[in-house]
Amino acid sequence: MVLRTVAGVRTGEDVEDLRAYLMKLGDSAPPVHETVVLACDNHGDERPTWTYVEADARAGTARRRCLQCANSVSVLDSAERWTHPTMWCCATCGQSIAEVVAGVSVPDGEHVDWLVLGVRCVECGRVEGLTDLVLPGLPLPAVLSQL
Ligand SMILES: [Zn+2]
Ligand SMILES: [Zn+2]
Repeated sequence: MVLRTVAGVRTGEDVEDLRAYLMKLGDSAPPVHETVVLACDNHGDERPTWTYVEADARAGTARRRCLQCANSVSVLDSAERWTHPTMWCCATCGQSIAEVVAGVSVPDGEHVDWLVLGVRCVECGRVEGLTDLVLPGLPLPAVLSQL
């Protein structure tokens, strides 16, 4: 794990560091049991992870758009509750291309009661939380298919 803190900003060298960051959010957050790197499914085996992302932390919504093919995917029911948030851009370096990882809390190993999205700037490596959602114990496969 290569997470570093530079002047109060956490950075990670790659998407694995972002996964590690979500696994260790600390006592104020529910435990994250599994993480998944969000990627575009339109490219065969390639599954590119570079994406634009719009998220509303207050509403608990997010939508990502593949950098290569512009395919958009809304997280869970975000489209129904869409508030037109501005596109994420890095608070350190100002650019908008990110990698996104979802972390899920699965206390019984089958049902998800909390989801958190984290983002990593592909330019400077800044990592941070994007948004999170409390879920009513949704089955894990159903959640994973709607990210
Ligand atoms: Zn794509
Ligand atoms: Zn940056």
